[in-house]
Amino acid sequence: MAQFRREELVAIIKKAHRWGRHVCGHAHGTEGIAWAIESGIDTIEHGQFLDDATAKLTADSGTVFVPTLANDFNRRRLDESGKLPKVQRNRAAELAAMGIVWSTAEERMAHSRKHGVIVAAGTDSGGNAIVLHGDNGAELVMLVECGYSPKEAVLAATSVVAKTIRVDSRGRARSARVRLPGPLPGAGPEARSWARCARSRRARSGRGRRRRPLPDHTGPRD
Ligand SMILES: [Zn+2]
Repeated sequence: MAQFRREELVAIIKKAHRWGRHVCGHAHGTEGIAWAIESGIDTIEHGQFLDDATAKLTADSGTVFVPTLANDFNRRRLDESGKLPKVQRNRAAELAAMGIVWSTAEERMAHSRKHGVIVAAGTDSGGNAIVLHGDNGAELVMLVECGYSPKEAVLAATSVVAKTIRVDSRGRARSARVRLPGPLPGAGPEARSWARCARSRRARSGRGRRRRPLPDHTGPRD
């Protein structure tokens, strides 16, 4: 069930757009996703229950989908190792008791891919216990695990994001020059080592350090 009424969504988005703001909607259910899109939202985050019809609506509207796949990546690895936080385990149990089954990342990305939904890599890093700042590189790993090519994954995390947040005049990436900490793996141990690598990079770089501004790119269009 959507948590906002349609009129509320229209009012929120209209007001934000009037002030030149980008509006993102952290929506899970199909009703909320559909209403947000029909109300003119810019991006849909999570889309946990995205089905075929909602994926088509998303694609047709040109709304950008930010599937926050790092959540799935970390949840799976923590679950496998028995380290999933209690609050997450309890939540999964509550949903299961209500007969609510979350679709897998592969399922919702298959719907997205089928309809050509614009996908941008973004995450809830820092917003919950299982995805910390610096772990968002797992978005690329998961996109590849869900059938996207390494190039598509890199573009989803660079030029697509730049266009989504409207900094493409200076954020355009030349995919050939994008450096990753290692090869994009298919699945399994390589993915885990990639995640460890991301974490150690974060530890070395130090938390809270001020980010450098985006460089100017003058490369060819992707
Ligand atoms: Zn969220």
